Amino acid sequence: MDTKKVFDYIDSMRGEMCAVLGELISYPSFKQEPEEGAPYGRAARDCLDSALKICERFGFATDTVGDRAGIASFTEGEPLLGILAHLDVVSAGDGWTFEPYKATVRDGKLYGRGAMDDKGPVVSVIFAMKALKDLGVPLKRGFELILGTDEECGSSDIKYFRKHRKMPKWLFTPDAEYPLINIEKGRIESRFSAPCKSEKLMSLHGGKTVNAVPASASAVVGGISEDEINSAIKAAGCTAVFTLSAEGGAIKIDSRGVSAHASTPETGDNALTALIKLLQALPLDMPAKQLLSGLAKEFPYKETDGASAGVAARDEVSGALTLVLSVLDYDGKSFGGAIDIRFPVCETAASVCKKLDAALKRAGFEAHSGGSEPHCVPSDSPFVKTLLEAYSSVTGKKGECIAIGGGTYVHGIPGGVAFGCEVSGEDNRIHGADEFIRVDALAENAKIFAEAIVRVCNGGEPV
Ligand SMILES: [Zn+2]
Repeated sequence: MDTKKVFDYIDSMRGEMCAVLGELISYPSFKQEPEEGAPYGRAARDCLDSALKICERFGFATDTVGDRAGIASFTEGEPLLGILAHLDVVSAGDGWTFEPYKATVRDGKLYGRGAMDDKGPVVSVIFAMKALKDLGVPLKRGFELILGTDEECGSSDIKYFRKHRKMPKWLFTPDAEYPLINIEKGRIESRFSAPCKSEKLMSLHGGKTVNAVPASASAVVGGISEDEINSAIKAAGCTAVFTLSAEGGAIKIDSRGVSAHASTPETGDNALTALIKLLQALPLDMPAKQLLSGLAKEFPYKETDGASAGVAARDEVSGALTLVLSVLDYDGKSFGGAIDIRFPVCETAASVCKKLDAALKRAGFEAHSGGSEPHCVPSDSPFVKTLLEAYSSVTGKKGECIAIGGGTYVHGIPGGVAFGCEVSGEDNRIHGADEFIRVDALAENAKIFAEAIVRVCNGGEPV
């Protein structure tokens, strides 16, 4: 491939790339009520049709799969390489300076919902394809672009796709970060409960979502003096901040910590486990005191590796298991709570669930745990090496694999890795207000993809 020619051509199409991205951003393609032929709502379907029409205009054959996903094929026949990206978004939310569903270019940045996640990367793939096609770059093996429309709400699009179509042998999704994610930890979600009648603990609420470290938690206790609570707060020595207020004849205790994603709990300060540490030290009645002490013992405040619960695990490639006690409610009759675990490739979901359920049983709770296995593509696989070489050759940066606790669009798809497009040190405000992509990055990503497509498809067998 005449690299300079391809890259110059991509640079010459920057304006067109921004226009196409603006067209895709104009669809508010977050999940909405299903309609005939539009299982995720009209806007997601219209956005898919618009993207496929653009691909057709550029000379690519397209197809749809159950109204849920689309395909734009570079060549006929079974493709070796697939690029999987998505056109659905999360809804705009508040706080935007710019209009969320209208692209605005300001100071080299293009703003709009989906600019980075994942419509911008889609546009870069389409223009990489266009450049290779228009310049007649020959490919020995084929590739296709697969466009989904339900990534943000559980990826049912890809479950459907895999039931009805074959995924290419090698697959990457430009829906995460550079250089390349080859390991995604396994995930366990556990729900636990225990009946409990208490005279002294009136209520407890901490955390709403299982996949986040809770930033706040509160409890109402009666028959315990403010002095007793204050000395217990001193003894607990938590960095989470407690405040007391009168509520009827009882005392409300608020706990404030720092929220974090459950895959990186060490960056947060769990307000709930801090509150549990405090409550179990108070002179509560049984069995509330016993149940809270059990939780404090198995899932202590400030511990994020599951050591006390006996689930700790670590390996060289994926790092340590993380555990977050993220939800706990008490309504006067029973406790109900949730735990999030991300575990390394050396463990299995069944074995972690078994150990976790045993820990919850020791604490006096009945538990139901389940989850997904880790996702791993070896870092020395020729496919991974080829993608990293493409990345380095375009950016001049070192290409290396990274392991994460979260899951990407390719989780569970054999041979799939995440490749781009966020770069460390830049916050593109994905899912937030004023999401953006740099116009330079739109072009650079297209160059990286063109390079990757050619290297993978022309690398000979086996790649
Ligand atoms: Zn995404």
